[in-house]
Amino acid sequence: MSYLNVEVLKQGINTSNCFECGACSASCPVRRVNSGFNPRRILHALFLGLEKDLIEEGAIWLCAHCYTCQEACPQKIKIPDIIVILKNLAYKALPPQGIRMQRENLNRYGRVYPIDEFDLQKRKKAGLPELLPVSLQAKRLMEA
Ligand code: SF4
Ligand code: SF4
Repeated sequence: MSYLNVEVLKQGINTSNCFECGACSASCPVRRVNSGFNPRRILHALFLGLEKDLIEEGAIWLCAHCYTCQEACPQKIKIPDIIVILKNLAYKALPPQGIRMQRENLNRYGRVYPIDEFDLQKRKKAGLPELLPVSLQAKRLMEA
């Protein structure tokens, strides 16, 4: 049994209930705009022990974790949770550069990307409040 299957079983996700109806893929909003992404195919690859291929091909990073597939699934299989496990494994094995950078930014700035003057102007135009540097924001929250 593969490492991923052990992780899935530990979380009480019974993938063997899937009867391949395709409702997950038909409802997925990401699949609607990118035919290369297919939650049913991800589950099928998992049955076949192909998680290494799923991790290497990288499509899992497109999942928006909206849970639409889980809602549509007649068996209520927790596909988004399975994809989270896959992403965690993928990050350890083969972290994509963009995700690595987001993590570094989060550590450094408290946000996945630094807010610059351009972002501030856009926020102002949209009527949103100014974003303070993270350290100042935390200080104000503590004072409140
Ligand atoms: S909707 Fe559920 S049962 Fe149907 S293919 Fe997807 S995971 Fe399997
Ligand atoms: S959780 Fe992921 S796989 Fe499921 S419908 Fe949303 S984007 Fe698609």
